[in-house]
Amino acid sequence: MRGIGLRHRYVLAIVVVGVLLTAAFTEAVVVSGGRLKLVIAAGLVLSLVAGWLAWRLIARIDSAIESLVRSAERIGSGHYADPVASSGVREIAHIEDALERMREALASTTISRDYLGILLNSMSDAVLVMAPDGRVRNANRAAEVLLGHEPGNLAGLDLASLIAEDHRATFDTARVLEAPGETVVSTARGQTIPVSVTASAISSEDPRFQGNIYVLRDITDRKRAERRIRYLARFDALTKMPNRMQFQHLLQQAIARSLRQGRSLALLYLDVDNFKEINDTFGHDAGDRVLETLSERLGRILPQESVVGRLAGDEFAIFAETTASKGDRHEQAASLARLLLTEIARPQHVAGHELEVTASIGIAACPENGDNVIDLIRNADAAMYHAKRAGRNCQVFYAPEMNAAAVERLLLKSKLRLALVRDEFLVRYQPKIDLASGQVIGAEGLLRWRLPGHGEIAPAQFIPLAEESHLILDIGAWVLNQVCSDYAGWQKRVADPGLVAINLSLKELNQASFIPRCRSVFEKYSVSPSRVELEITETTLMMDASHTLPLLDELRAMGVHLSIDDFGTGYSSLSALQQFPIGTLKIDQSFVRNAATDPDDATIVRTIIEMGRSLGLQVLAEGIETEEQRAFLLHSGCQYGQGRLFGDPMTADDFLDTMLRQATGQHPILRLPA
Ligand code: C2E
Ligand code: MG
Ligand code: MG
Repeated sequence: MRGIGLRHRYVLAIVVVGVLLTAAFTEAVVVSGGRLKLVIAAGLVLSLVAGWLAWRLIARIDSAIESLVRSAERIGSGHYADPVASSGVREIAHIEDALERMREALASTTISRDYLGILLNSMSDAVLVMAPDGRVRNANRAAEVLLGHEPGNLAGLDLASLIAEDHRATFDTARVLEAPGETVVSTARGQTIPVSVTASAISSEDPRFQGNIYVLRDITDRKRAERRIRYLARFDALTKMPNRMQFQHLLQQAIARSLRQGRSLALLYLDVDNFKEINDTFGHDAGDRVLETLSERLGRILPQESVVGRLAGDEFAIFAETTASKGDRHEQAASLARLLLTEIARPQHVAGHELEVTASIGIAACPENGDNVIDLIRNADAAMYHAKRAGRNCQVFYAPEMNAAAVERLLLKSKLRLALVRDEFLVRYQPKIDLASGQVIGAEGLLRWRLPGHGEIAPAQFIPLAEESHLILDIGAWVLNQVCSDYAGWQKRVADPGLVAINLSLKELNQASFIPRCRSVFEKYSVSPSRVELEITETTLMMDASHTLPLLDELRAMGVHLSIDDFGTGYSSLSALQQFPIGTLKIDQSFVRNAATDPDDATIVRTIIEMGRSLGLQVLAEGIETEEQRAFLLHSGCQYGQGRLFGDPMTADDFLDTMLRQATGQHPILRLPA
């Protein structure tokens, strides 16, 4: 019977059984003498009808099974879209139901798998799924694009082989599992690209899924901007010369070198004569051209081993190391100064006029006139001042009696010691503004010294002096106390006086009692630590990062808000600052000053804002003086600002008035932008 279909077998069986029954019945009828023909006919008809009915029934089951088989084959080949059709045949309904449930389950896992694939491939960050043996199991499209590989080609590669050779030794694949890091990858085409890396372990019981996920982001733009910021932090954009900070840094190295080698060094301090008049008469652009011409000339004639820098507006300094004997080096320095004066005085064309610009030069020698940067610059400056008094366009060597400033400095230091006892300090408060709404969000406390006979002295003149000794600790403690006491007064009058900021010196932060003292002062005045902000300069932060970090973590855990002050002036990169629990980044006013007019500065400021925000920081711009600056900063995504445009540092009472005005719905800032 092999080869005959099931359906045929059943029907044949029914017909055969029918015929056999008919035959048996016929025999019975013959024996009993009944009506034979009729019985035979009826038996046969009944057999055929039964056979036909069986045929139909089996045909239905058969076609339902065929359809079931087709559905199973479709599902088996990965097509889950069409539901399993119901045949209505009761006998196989439960198989159909089971198959349909299977299809639904498979369809939903495939959708999530496809969806995951779509998500991964839509990500702009490169994602590498790594097996526990450190090889790529899976990579998304962005990873293939970043690393320049054809689709599927990354699988099986070792992660270390994707890191640029020079960076392999320093990139620890396990450490990035704990904290985000940076490295440089090398692409299939041999390019190198800096990337930020974050990684996490895949948590699964199933060993087939275990491993790590690495997320790589191209940070080329950020690195470029950081290089630019670092460049601008060290070099003057107009003359491309080292700025004051960089010059001092180079001078310090040169002094150390020459002292070590028993050599000498001459420092020439040069100031353009009557530069203010040039600016006032011909405008600032003309003034800038004069400085550019001057720096070109200096660069051309200075001996190779000398270094020149622009210390401020029209002030330049040059140092040159020498091995000459004392008398000779005096003459060497004098002839260099003469050469400079002659070259500078050559006529130049400014705004259609021929001008003869001159300069005055002061000279100090190391080690005779000072063996450190501060003394040497101060003494050369004092000599320059005497050159001005001697009629300008000349050079003067330093002599000890010239340095009234040094004497003044010593006097100031002793007076500073008494200032606390005599209660000569006061804190002024400069409002911080939400640039979009114009609302005051808090204030920065800025210290002033009211010295009888000298008026109010700005902190730049005495904080560095105080920092040279432990005086800064007492002054810092006084400021903290005063600010909290003022805040307590404000709190009684307005519901929310905002955040109040205090500037912090490195010495204060390093003082063991600093944090406990903060706690007790906050408690004494019932000021919540969450209302207090501590401003720390970028340079202070990076000075001793491993020591500073736990202190800042503790302050942050107390609820104190931390900000980076004067961002952009230090040597650090934003990524290095990422490790600190910083909430706000304050862009230094030197970048803000020309941001609305100088495309270079505009780019820098925009990049700092973008970088800051991408790291989840609030960004505040310092020193906003004009409406153009405010508009530019707001447009560039900067949220907060501070500066003369919104208010100079004011007394505690005036700040309270400001907040009271704001609380009653008036505009808090009296000096509104036009
Ligand atoms: P800072 O923290 O960067 O403060 C901002 C400085 O910019 C303040 O100078 C402020 O008066 C000034 N300023 C505000 N608006 C403008 C503007 O529109 N244009 C310009 N050009 N400048 C503006 P100030 O008060 O002379 O303070 C100088 C620095 O002294 C501060 O810089 C801060 O680093 C330090 N300082 C001030 N008070 C304290 C203090 O209590 N403790 C410590 N350790 N340092 C302090
Ligand atoms: Mg500050
Ligand atoms: Mg600042």
